[in-house]
Amino acid sequence: MGHVDSSNLHKVEDLWYEDGTIILIAGTVAFCVHKGVLVALSPIFRDILALPKSPNNDTMEGRVVAHITDSGFDMTNFLRAVFRPGYKSLVRDTQQVSFPELASILRMAHKYDVPEAVAIAVDRLSQRFCAPFHTSLGRQVDWDDVQKHLDTAHASVAFDPADAFEALNLMRRINAATGPPRFPDRALAVALFYCCVAVEQNPRLVRSGAPRADGTVEELSDADLERCVRGTALLRQEVYDGVSRALMAFQDGYGVFKHQIKCPRQNGCQEDIKIHLAYVQLTECERTWGRGSVRDVWVWVAKRQPAPGLFGAEAWQKWMCGPCKKKFEQLLEESMVKGWDLFVANMSVSD
Ligand SMILES: [Zn+2]
Repeated sequence: MGHVDSSNLHKVEDLWYEDGTIILIAGTVAFCVHKGVLVALSPIFRDILALPKSPNNDTMEGRVVAHITDSGFDMTNFLRAVFRPGYKSLVRDTQQVSFPELASILRMAHKYDVPEAVAIAVDRLSQRFCAPFHTSLGRQVDWDDVQKHLDTAHASVAFDPADAFEALNLMRRINAATGPPRFPDRALAVALFYCCVAVEQNPRLVRSGAPRADGTVEELSDADLERCVRGTALLRQEVYDGVSRALMAFQDGYGVFKHQIKCPRQNGCQEDIKIHLAYVQLTECERTWGRGSVRDVWVWVAKRQPAPGLFGAEAWQKWMCGPCKKKFEQLLEESMVKGWDLFVANMSVSD
């Protein structure tokens, strides 16, 4: 047994119980907690702490020390979640949590086999990643508005696309465990979408990987890297395709719905759509191809409307009749949603 010098260690104040019976050291971070609680909490901790003659059995301030290989950041978030009263409040989305914190809790709860904490973290993360489009956002929103809504109002999990590699890898790791997959394909697809956004913002991530909050570098698997590159191209294409599809659907369906909606212009709206379809195909495509951002698709789907620059409201409101405008809006909405569905389907996220 050796004595551990505590002068280089950071004691986590709110996880340093005066009546604690064991000291955990993760990197340069130290915790003084109760062995009995750890043993009751986790079979992994029970095994680690049961080793009587481990060389790890140093002492510090009169207590046994256990060195653990996790980062201080991960262990702090995990112990805060499971040791302090009220961690079950994480179930509710009224308590805001950052993605790095939640990821720590999930990673550690999975590693140390604490099913209840895994379930809470999976549910919370699923809320953030599964139904991002069930929103009541207005039409005048941009990327930041959509993110803010998802970070605060929707599931209250603050997520930065720079954390996308970690999110995707973590979901894959959890899903690879025994039992049915915990994260559905929709959640994986959204994580993959965020990877495309992160790579678009900083292409070097493809080679260097993306660091977690504690500095650990997350790299994508070869298969996910390929999905990410393909997905970025697909999403850029969708910036253009989404509008084209709606224009074509209008053209094809006009003969049928013009009677239902009572278009007063007698084929005039269809003629105009034809001209605009040709216009979009010949010119807008060229202009937007290079500068379209994959983020646009996300915003379009969230607000069910394309960016004004391409074929936005102000362009077609000038010449279309009222009923046709409404119809076209509906077709645009359907097309935007379909664009997202195509992305999810083409990514084959669970293969
Ligand atoms: Zn009309």
